[in-house]
Amino acid sequence: MLNLSRRKFVMSAAFAAALGLDRRLAFAPAAHAQKAPEPAQGFHRYKVGSIEVTALYDGVWEKPHDPAFIKNASVEETKAALGKAGLPTDFVSVPLTVVVLNVGGRLIMVDAGSGGQWQPTAGKLAANMKAAGIDPAKIGTILISHFHPDHIFGLMEKGTNASVFPNAELVVSAAEYNWWTEPGRVEKLPDPRKPLGQRINSVFPAWKTFRLVEGEKEVAPGVRLVSAPGHTPGHAAFHVSSGSQQLMISNDTAYVPALLGPHPEWQGAYDQDGPLAVESRRKLIDRVIAEKMMVCGAHFPFPGAGSFAKDGSGYVFTPGKA
Ligand SMILES: [Zn+2]
Repeated sequence: MLNLSRRKFVMSAAFAAALGLDRRLAFAPAAHAQKAPEPAQGFHRYKVGSIEVTALYDGVWEKPHDPAFIKNASVEETKAALGKAGLPTDFVSVPLTVVVLNVGGRLIMVDAGSGGQWQPTAGKLAANMKAAGIDPAKIGTILISHFHPDHIFGLMEKGTNASVFPNAELVVSAAEYNWWTEPGRVEKLPDPRKPLGQRINSVFPAWKTFRLVEGEKEVAPGVRLVSAPGHTPGHAAFHVSSGSQQLMISNDTAYVPALLGPHPEWQGAYDQDGPLAVESRRKLIDRVIAEKMMVCGAHFPFPGAGSFAKDGSGYVFTPGKA
């Protein structure tokens, strides 16, 4: 027993080191049930040309294993992929990171995190934004990838649904907005998704701050919406370009790269249209590799940026600058 727990202890420290996290935190006794180490600092800044990117940590979902999680992979295969990436295998580690871009003094946020209304181990965005010295009232634009809880609940106050960012213009693909708010949509959703559909429909149409984008357009200077459907009907990535540098904010296209890097063909239960999600994933990662750009994702290991390379029939993700 002693040996076993010692092994786990060492793995956890190694995992922290691999992510560039503070080893002291990995050694600190857990204050709650969370097993994954927290980043030593909940924000991280890097540059894409002249654009400053701040990655803000919202938290983590330690997702229990579930045979329905990946439609075309077993729990054992999932565990093997996590182990190969140096991640804990007794749960699926799903971290959540939000990025804020400073484009010539203009603050543009991508998605809004969970607002403490998703998993009890998430909801740290506001505190980490404050620690990074970012005033939420100064965020002028929020680019929204899709309407899943971990990406939009941070827009709405718990209980009242009041707007958390009333000064921000909310930019989303018309495909996403129109699908979720189509008359009769809530009735057509599977039961577990109905409360989400109801919340979207009772709040968003009354807000006058949405700007719907048709197709792939520039949504801010140097930032372009990239259509990546499948995860949801209007799921979008955002391409950032400044000088000779590029960053693809992939959002949920590659979800947890330890799983979908080596197995881009895996279809998550969270992918609404599995085959289309696979097609979008391959197309986006192939582009990222061909154009040698940096990539980040909402559920990549914090701080989330790195690069992809081809590896057999799949890909391998390496954290750090491209
Ligand atoms: Zn997500």
